Amino acid sequence: MSENEILLRNIPFSPPDITEAEVEEVAKALKSGWITTGPRTKLLERRLAAYIDTGKNDVDCESEAGVAKYSNRVVCLNSATAAEELNLRIWGVGPGDEVIVPAYTYTASASAVCHCGATPVFVDIQPNGNSTSHMPEYDYEALEAAITEKTKAIVVVDLGGLVGDYERVFEIAERQKSKFVPKNTADDSLDELSSKIQQGLGRVAIVADCAHSLGASATFKGQKTYAGNLADFSSFSFHAVKNFTTAEGGASSWKLPKSVYDTGVTDAEIYHMYQLLSLHGQSKDALAKTQIGAWEYDIVGPWYKCNMTDIMAAIGLRQLDRYLGLLDRRLEIIRKYDNACDELGLLHLNHHMDGMDSSNHLYLMRVPNATEQQRNELIIKLAERGVATNVHYKPLPMMTAYKKMGYDIKDFPNAYDYYRNEITLPLHTNLSDEDVDYIIASLKAVFAK
Ligand SMILES: *Cc1c(COP(=O)(O)O)cnc(C)c1O
Repeated sequence: MSENEILLRNIPFSPPDITEAEVEEVAKALKSGWITTGPRTKLLERRLAAYIDTGKNDVDCESEAGVAKYSNRVVCLNSATAAEELNLRIWGVGPGDEVIVPAYTYTASASAVCHCGATPVFVDIQPNGNSTSHMPEYDYEALEAAITEKTKAIVVVDLGGLVGDYERVFEIAERQKSKFVPKNTADDSLDELSSKIQQGLGRVAIVADCAHSLGASATFKGQKTYAGNLADFSSFSFHAVKNFTTAEGGASSWKLPKSVYDTGVTDAEIYHMYQLLSLHGQSKDALAKTQIGAWEYDIVGPWYKCNMTDIMAAIGLRQLDRYLGLLDRRLEIIRKYDNACDELGLLHLNHHMDGMDSSNHLYLMRVPNATEQQRNELIIKLAERGVATNVHYKPLPMMTAYKKMGYDIKDFPNAYDYYRNEITLPLHTNLSDEDVDYIIASLKAVFAK
């Protein structure tokens, strides 16, 4: 095709992929008489638990054995931000504590720390990201140096759906164990649980921001392990722009070592605490109160309201049926972009390598030697051709809220350098092959100059 023959297309950045299957399941939920947290949410929780264990979306989660096996593993909530906050609260983060967060991420990775009254401590990324995957990943030496007696957790972000070096982060946490001061209070049931978990773990927690990485996996201690099982606590996002959506929504999962359970803590107890935190600290949820004579409840803490509804879960159940196909389609598009970027000399993420498979969420690419200004002009040129792009991310130390906390981008030169020439291409399953060819032709037209 010559440039003149191409009709201008209008390519949105990241529209949701919703089919009749999701529409029908939502209608069923609406007609079922139960629209808030209920059977569909519980089923989605078990199916997500099975998926992050096996990579399969058709595992039995409804027979008695299936229910027993996959209950108390995943909690569905109304966002990833709420999920990360509850992860930190269950772990026991509060005022006076520090949590390490990469400077190169979305605000939610850090704001959840602020919501708990703790301080986010930013750490820079490696220059130009990981040398193989190109992922904007922690500078691990700087990460280790940032650990103090106040550090309670390290937030690891699976950016773009890629999985970083969790083995290395755990090694760092182990090496710095002597600095860790476990919580030891019992003011309420949450406090008591957090103290037991901290004493059992005996080191800073690894808290994953898996907003992008449902279905991603990496070899961890010799075993293929999915996001959600790689860190001590993980949070997923089902926001409308993510790979897997429930319009808004998110989920928490946890994977704790034996030493935690040796303190007497159980998964059922942890799961119950997430329920309490997400539903007013109310000892019975709406479903439990429908039992005969069961109206009475207690409020065990003045907590939050961030539960998932069965209408949202209905979307998620049908998205999960389709999810493996969605991931495959994303990969086809990535392969085409990779070839085009290689041809044009543009740097890009490597979503699949030995021992790591990403969830193919975002296509980050970088224009060598471009300044921030030149990058912005390129974004406009692509937009003029109808190709919507984005930047992932403007580093947090450049944002007003974090500048006010005293952060300065000058202290995070690698994050700035990665950001200044970064452009994210549209990557979603509503793109036809013709759309992808059109985007690539647009790249060639814009970047050849
Ligand atoms: C989208 C996103 C979140 C927040 O997800 P919500 O479900 O909107 O709360 C957190 N972290 C990252 C990296 C994200 O991209």
